[in-house]
Amino acid sequence: MSGEAAAAGIVIVGAGQAGVMTAEALRSGGFEGAITMLGDEPHGPYHRPPLSKAWMAGEIEAAQLVMRAPEMLARKNIALRTGVNVKAIDRSAQTLILGDGSTLPYTGLVLATGSTPRALPLPGSDAPGVLALRTRDDASAIAERLAACIAQQRPVVVIGGGFIGLEVAATARKKGLEVTVLEAAPRLLGRVLAPVLSDWYAELHRGHGVQLVLGAQVAAIEAAAQGVTGVKLADGSVVPAGLVVVGIGVGANDQLAKAAGLACDRGIVVDACCRTSDPLIVAAGDCTARRLADGSLLRLESVQNATVQGKSAAAALLGQERPFTATPWFWSDQYDKKLQMAGLSMGADAWAIRGQMNGDMAAGTFTVYHFKGDQLIAADSVNASKDHLLVRKLLDAGISPTREQAGDVAFDLASLLVK
Ligand SMILES: Cc1cc2nc3c(=O)[nH]c(=O)nc-3n(C[C@H](O)[C@H](O)[C@H](O)COP(=O)(O)OP(=O)(O)OC[C@H]3O[C@@H](n4cnc5c(N)ncnc54)[C@H](O)[C@@H]3O)c2cc1C
Repeated sequence: MSGEAAAAGIVIVGAGQAGVMTAEALRSGGFEGAITMLGDEPHGPYHRPPLSKAWMAGEIEAAQLVMRAPEMLARKNIALRTGVNVKAIDRSAQTLILGDGSTLPYTGLVLATGSTPRALPLPGSDAPGVLALRTRDDASAIAERLAACIAQQRPVVVIGGGFIGLEVAATARKKGLEVTVLEAAPRLLGRVLAPVLSDWYAELHRGHGVQLVLGAQVAAIEAAAQGVTGVKLADGSVVPAGLVVVGIGVGANDQLAKAAGLACDRGIVVDACCRTSDPLIVAAGDCTARRLADGSLLRLESVQNATVQGKSAAAALLGQERPFTATPWFWSDQYDKKLQMAGLSMGADAWAIRGQMNGDMAAGTFTVYHFKGDQLIAADSVNASKDHLLVRKLLDAGISPTREQAGDVAFDLASLLVK
């Protein structure tokens, strides 16, 4: 290691959730060398989840988005450089090449580069007013267009019935706008939710006045001089729009890693401790694909994943093992409904529903428990935080109720935790 590299210390690419968590865990883990965090956005670290929820709805101030003020990072001796794009990694020289052509050496490197919304591969999708949502600046652009739609009484179209699209749809409806959601699949949130919950969400949105088109085949975006005017479907019909929000998923930002020869497979491949194929480089958050014990790869896009992996990545750089073993969890807010998911429900073959009355989802307060065989593998709770917290404990402990117990409101699931 060169003297210059030794002085450089650890460099973190990406000043988001995973980057901040790694930096702070390095300090709390006793690392005393230099830590430099590089972010290509003009802003310091901020919370993304409110962008589609409370912030877009105008319920919180911009200051409440701030995750860590630069002064707070400075107190921990973490140097934050915003507006800096890392162009390449020279692994043999242990050096980063920055956008302005300068270089920065590292002794250890953290890739926490996040993900990028998938672009709509259709004619007209570059028209003004066709927007995706990932960054604070994206959210500001959407908020501005929403305000114009309110002023001009123009409708909003959301392409993609995933979490971000549906949260934006709910926020736009709350503002009184006419909203259409176009989803290509036969159900909403099909990649992440059981059919029973997809149907429930479809009813929730329809009940709030959203026009839902399932199985929608979008053919083109129509635009005039002032920007988007509508979305053309394959059957020739046009859904009018003054704003089109595209929420059709994200891709991991693994280009830097790939170009540097690190193992990537729709994400930077890491083990449970966030180690990449280079012992000096770890990766955390949305940009990763985690190798599981059975050899498969898992990509998670959540605050919890970025947080837990950030801590694992820091430990790995400090020569410790802190594998990701926690139950994955996620949340989404739409209207007055908070969904909290625990575990991964893929592969479930049976369900039990615990509502105010057994099997009852109508009151809007319930938990769907997912089973694979006799084993509880996941649970999705709507306005039922107590159920969610309890099920995380059950899943962490590997304890499974029977389906009958899960669905029976008279049965105290917490009693299963008491030995
Ligand atoms: C609108 C919205 C709502 C969400 N809601 C929820 C929710 O309710 N619950 C939940 O759990 N999760 C939610 N998420 C997901 C969650 O925010 C992400 O999973 C989390 O932010 C991932 O953190 P990260 O650090 O991996 O990536 P990011 O937060 O994306 O940070 C990565 C940073 O790296 C920067 N970067 C990339 N490449 C370079 C480069 N070459 N040089 C310099 N900088 C670079 C990026 O610009 C970015 O600033 C939401 C996301 C969005 C966008």
